[in-house]
Amino acid sequence: MSLSEQQAAALSPDTLVVAAGRPPRERDQPVNPPLVLSSTYFGTGPLADGDRGYGRYSNPTWDPFEEALGQLEGSDLPGLLYASGLAAVSSALSLIPAGGVLVMPTHSYSGTLVMAAELAQKGFIELRTVDIADTAAVIEALAPAGPDGRQASMLWLESPTNPMLGIAEVSVLAEAAHRAGAMVVTDNTFSTPLGQQPLKLGSDVVLHSVTKYLAGHSDVVLGALVTANPEIRAALLHHRIIHGGIAGPFEAWLALRGLRTLALRVERSQASAQILAEQLSAHPRIESVRFPGLATDPGHERARSQMNGFGSIVCIQVAPVAGLTGAEAADALVRGLELWLPATSLGGVESLIERRRRHAAEPASVPENLVRLSVGVENAADLWADLQQALDRLGR
Ligand code: PLP
Repeated sequence: MSLSEQQAAALSPDTLVVAAGRPPRERDQPVNPPLVLSSTYFGTGPLADGDRGYGRYSNPTWDPFEEALGQLEGSDLPGLLYASGLAAVSSALSLIPAGGVLVMPTHSYSGTLVMAAELAQKGFIELRTVDIADTAAVIEALAPAGPDGRQASMLWLESPTNPMLGIAEVSVLAEAAHRAGAMVVTDNTFSTPLGQQPLKLGSDVVLHSVTKYLAGHSDVVLGALVTANPEIRAALLHHRIIHGGIAGPFEAWLALRGLRTLALRVERSQASAQILAEQLSAHPRIESVRFPGLATDPGHERARSQMNGFGSIVCIQVAPVAGLTGAEAADALVRGLELWLPATSLGGVESLIERRRRHAAEPASVPENLVRLSVGVENAADLWADLQQALDRLGR
């Protein structure tokens, strides 16, 4: 461990992203952890705790990232890296006992929803979806009144949600879930540990699509889980070993390299998102703007009370214009951009834009004309100029 828990706790998160997960300060040690490409390790006799054993059990290149992420999320335990965010989702859902009840946001990330719905269709779990911004409705779903109201085994939180940017009241809901005997998992992908530390708000497990902000350069697919509970971590580690959703060492190495600039990237992209959300709100071709940083946004006060910053995802609904439906106008907007990249995903240095309903799996309650903007680190004036030229051309 390059930083003790006490040292890590004393550092600001923007220092921690740079300082955590380094090799020991010994003469001739590299300052960056090496990339280790080996599927197996020398050894004889029975495997003891801490033995590396085999490449599906552990890899030295995972360790520094896992250590750094654990410290960033405020856990004494290292995180666990996975092959993708969805591999991490799968591992987290495996904590639900057979037949258990899962309460999940109606507007969770679509892949997460599909996985949960498939488990429910097979009869492995019962799924209750709920508007996560409606605290009373979530509490009711956790422990419904009446003789048939089975208590939930797991509450899944995503805040802000992808793509509707709903904000959950994390600490109130975590407390209610624990009262009902449910474990709480929070997908913290949109906020990053710099924007929100769900373990401190009462969550038992935190999930990241590392693909997004943590790695930050749209060049890897990875996921991670963090918990401060040793028993939960042991169960997740066992699941990762047996189900095999492990990270490639090169991806893990790239993710740590990306993590070093997380604070700078988040600071820049959040500031630009605020500017762009305000500019978009005033444009006549835009029907509505969702961004928790806008004082008019329904999640604004809640986000302000539990987050540090408002993230850098902005969602807009494009107004119908000159013979085009809202969805067609949204497609025309995306096609008319020259700097923004028309592509799915988010959280990279480059600004990405897409109409979400182009994906068949996106819930029908996401409006057809909703466009998600992932604001990168380019100059905000250049990003606005590009949006403005494409929006202005819509009317002609
Ligand atoms: N969680 C959220 C909020 C996401 O946006 C995504 C992907 O877009 C995932 C999980 C899944 O992550 P991955 O694509 O790395 O599997």
